[in-house]
Amino acid sequence: MESNMNKKNKPISPSTDIWVALDLEATGLDKNKDDIIEVGAVKFKGNETLDTFNTLVNTDLQLSDFIIQLTGINQKEVDEAPKWESIAPKLSKFVGDSGIICHNTKFDLEFLETANLSFDNPVCDTWDMAYVLLPSESKYSLQALAERFNANHKSPHRALSDAIATQHVFQKLLKIAKQLDYETLNEMLRLSNRSNWVLGDLLNGLSIESEFSKAKNPANKNPRRTISALGIDEEALNKRLTTLSPLNPKDGYPLELSEIEEILSLNGPLSKTLSAFEVRDEQIEMATAVAEAINSSSRLTVEAGTGVGKSLAYLIPGAIYALSHNKTVVISTNTINLQEQLLKNDVPKLHKALEKMNIDSQEDLKCTLLKGRSNYLCLERTARLHSAENLNDDEARMLAKIMIWLKNTKTGDREELNLGYQTARAPWNKLSSETALKCMHSGRPCFLKSARQRAEGSHLIITNHALVLSDMVMGGGLLPEYDVLIMDEAHHLEEEATKHLGFEISNRMIRDHLESISGNETSICNIFPRTFLTIQLNENIREKLFELTQLTTKSIEITNLLFNDLSEFARSNSQQSQYSSKNSPFAKQIRLRVIDTLRKSQGWIETLNTWDILNTIFITIRKNLGDLEEYIHTKEQSDLPNIETLSESINNALNFHQTLSDSLNSFLSNPDTNGIYWINKLTEESEIYLNMAPLNVSKTLEENLFSKKSSVIMTGATISTNGNFDHFRNNTGFDRSKELILGSPFDYKTSAALFLPNDISDPNQPTYQSEIENAIFEASVTAEGKTMALFTSYQSLRNAYKNLQPRFQAENINVIAQRPGDSPDSMRREFLKVPKSVLLGTSSFWEGVDLPGDHLKVLIITRLPFHVPTDPIHSAREEQYENSFMDYSIPLSIIKLRQGLGRLIRTESDKGIAIILDSRLTKRRYGTQFLNSLPEMTQIQSSLSTMSDHIYYWTK
Ligand code: SF4
Repeated sequence: MESNMNKKNKPISPSTDIWVALDLEATGLDKNKDDIIEVGAVKFKGNETLDTFNTLVNTDLQLSDFIIQLTGINQKEVDEAPKWESIAPKLSKFVGDSGIICHNTKFDLEFLETANLSFDNPVCDTWDMAYVLLPSESKYSLQALAERFNANHKSPHRALSDAIATQHVFQKLLKIAKQLDYETLNEMLRLSNRSNWVLGDLLNGLSIESEFSKAKNPANKNPRRTISALGIDEEALNKRLTTLSPLNPKDGYPLELSEIEEILSLNGPLSKTLSAFEVRDEQIEMATAVAEAINSSSRLTVEAGTGVGKSLAYLIPGAIYALSHNKTVVISTNTINLQEQLLKNDVPKLHKALEKMNIDSQEDLKCTLLKGRSNYLCLERTARLHSAENLNDDEARMLAKIMIWLKNTKTGDREELNLGYQTARAPWNKLSSETALKCMHSGRPCFLKSARQRAEGSHLIITNHALVLSDMVMGGGLLPEYDVLIMDEAHHLEEEATKHLGFEISNRMIRDHLESISGNETSICNIFPRTFLTIQLNENIREKLFELTQLTTKSIEITNLLFNDLSEFARSNSQQSQYSSKNSPFAKQIRLRVIDTLRKSQGWIETLNTWDILNTIFITIRKNLGDLEEYIHTKEQSDLPNIETLSESINNALNFHQTLSDSLNSFLSNPDTNGIYWINKLTEESEIYLNMAPLNVSKTLEENLFSKKSSVIMTGATISTNGNFDHFRNNTGFDRSKELILGSPFDYKTSAALFLPNDISDPNQPTYQSEIENAIFEASVTAEGKTMALFTSYQSLRNAYKNLQPRFQAENINVIAQRPGDSPDSMRREFLKVPKSVLLGTSSFWEGVDLPGDHLKVLIITRLPFHVPTDPIHSAREEQYENSFMDYSIPLSIIKLRQGLGRLIRTESDKGIAIILDSRLTKRRYGTQFLNSLPEMTQIQSSLSTMSDHIYYWTK
């Protein structure tokens, strides 16, 4: 095994040398502003604990409520604790020259360094170890790992308890690391040697300990059977990658409506296979309507309320049609949740029903989940990054993780990986199949190819709207040929199409692109001569490279000029919108819609002149890149090392260059009449975004998607507004379709109440926020948790959390408040796990969150969900209507409200109460439109003082 000579520390044995697991508590996360308030450390060797160190630390800073609640440490305790100056030497002595283990070394060691205590000891990070060794683990927090390994962790967020847990987690992870084969361990060490990855010390120590394993793991692999240095046995991987033969379409028979009906009827095949089966008339009606639409090659829009069982209502006719014609039916959803539910819950039921009918067995109906290419690992790109001379820490860590994952994965789908926090996940973009070009080694294993091959041999492809739309934009190629499309969660179609048919570019994107041509270590102009080192580059090519370097430098200068002008133009033509405070995700920003009148102004004309100059240079850059690419191919130098990397880089640069040029041209000088253009800039950031979205997506969808399919079925639980599909039809262009609205089979009148307080202030009144906070508190106490409050703004949510948190604490109620970037799924899990919980959520909780049964009893909607008035897309679309508020804003808001309310009753046995704290629902005329669109719950209009009684009645 390679030795770790370039590391500064002498090798330390993970098993036989002394280590110190260390943890700090601090007043906050900022090492420059916050102070250490507690230190905990455990000294150990192997499995033997030698000593512990624990002390609180005096600080002049006041502890925040959050820290007091998180740690349980109070102000008096730290006030009475010794000063850091007296603690530091003792800690230094305790640690000595032992190896240091922390769960997130960066936090602890940087805090210590800022407090003038630096260590030069070998270091190990248990977060890093878990990230690599447990590639699919759902959580890498110390608490979660301690739980996983049954480690002793009595007081999370107390330093000594955390240090002890870190020690135990380390010992467990070390056992896993020791089971790695020699080759993998050796490759991981190589990765650490080419970076500053923190696990270098541990791997170096393991390398010495595992000398013995050489004998057990002889490095005798045939290199031709492995993918570069990844150590993958191609044969074994190829066996794991299942493929299907392409379907051979045949003339089938039309769907028998009576047969479809029978499957879903009493004593039908489904009733014989599902224990909890119930006949739903709405489900039968929907399934036969889907079958009719397929038979008659026509369109159908069907809204099915909660509990109809719409998935099986389209899966059954879709599957029978696909089987009898040996064709593919594409089923598209907006969310991964629904895709998973279809695959895990509904497709198995479908299989069973078809088996009972003797028309299917697992062997016959093939069903595949297909995702966009960015979801699949590209083995070639991974191998290329793996062989790079220098790696950053995130890359080394990710590559090591992937090497372990590759031993088992059958799909190469990133969904199986926990990619961790934002920067940790960044290298994925360099490894995914997204921008991979033609593979130079055809016949070798490829996850993307295998997923597509499986799709080509599948009767049902479950995918997302994004892939269907990308396939449409590219004119095919991403999905196999298909003529029946079923879109579930269809109310997202317009929004998704808007994203796909528009663009967003920024000055940083352009600068990064130009620097990838010339300007950094890995740029084309740098790699090109290095790749051709062994052969003479001709004069012409050398000149091209020189010229490219000069042109990119010039382009960066002009881009800066152009975007400065655009920023100034936006600033002087817009009013700053300040939706919320500094820390909000919607921090102060300048957002200017570039409308025709502005394009005629002097300021705009000046930016056009700058763009003309930049565009001329861009054209020459494109030409030079094209010449370089041609040179590679005409010389047929495919044997040169790294030629694939170079070829891929040039191709990617050329494609992106074209996209940027087209987008800038469209934004600045040649706007599309169907385009909405706007400049966006957060005032505290230097990045300036130029955005375009289509005003209307219906023509494109009709011409390029709907009209190309024989049958298209749109479905979802919230497509209609005020009892019709006018809004959906107008916005998506999905017309000439049979339309069907099927209510929920649940008895909403007896299972749910809608409480509308008649004495709450208007949302614009200053007292409103405190009134909703009081209502949330009272409702949650009455229901003993089991409450979710949905907000329309982070600002209001944050204020509510701040004011309510101590009150909830006094009542022993757990409050879970969403922050930007929080994972809704982990919040949901916490809500389900802790019985007396209140969840305060915003956007992502309005739909797709399932909290069935007794977990959710009270649903509070704080405010009607109207869209942000200054949103450029909405404001441009509103202008298309004579009465935009009634015909555009209200329908959008109704759909969102229906989605929100849909969280309350998920199963037939659910019971609960919804409370809408927005008086506009009862006091404004348009309120009736909202109320007419909601399920028929028992409606109660009364004063807030009666709310608790009603909650008690509907929740007990
Ligand atoms: S075929 Fe393409 S995506 Fe697949 S491994 Fe090769 S380069 Fe990557």
